[in-house]
Amino acid sequence: MPDEPILPIDDPLLKQPSEAVTRFDADLRALAQRMFEVMDRADGAGLAAVQIGVSKRLVVMDVRDGSDERHRLALVNPEVLSASDKTVRGVEGCLSMPDYGIPVDRAARVRVRYHDLDGQPHETDADGEFAVCLQHEIDHTNGVLFTDRVSRLRRDKARKFFARVRRDYERGGATA
Ligand SMILES: [Zn+2]
Repeated sequence: MPDEPILPIDDPLLKQPSEAVTRFDADLRALAQRMFEVMDRADGAGLAAVQIGVSKRLVVMDVRDGSDERHRLALVNPEVLSASDKTVRGVEGCLSMPDYGIPVDRAARVRVRYHDLDGQPHETDADGEFAVCLQHEIDHTNGVLFTDRVSRLRRDKARKFFARVRRDYERGGATA
């Protein structure tokens, strides 16, 4: 199977809010399956559909929470219902900008509502990496990038780094 391309962070589609999912059908399940494969192959913790060019509110993740419990799931139309005032700062990466971490402040805990692939509604409380990943991926569904969550200085540094990687890549020098 050919590698599914992941859109680079400067792709304009990533700045657009994705559309709500209205049909919970076999196509949606197939899309989620593809996303899990892309995420696993890239050794990522989370992926939003828009990152593979599908502007739908669907994200997948495979992360651990603050109690080290594993959460491997697909979330449809996820939204943050509430977030703790307490924040945590951790170094985040994004599959749309490989090999570059940026310290980002996030709510330490969030309550999230979503539907599963069968259309059943769920609410979940998350902390640890689970909470951070939910915020990062839900941002993607709203057209918001982690580089939008940091200072202009860090954003400019990230852009410069990324532009250089892109140039090398387009010359055929890199393998990422
Ligand atoms: Zn991302």
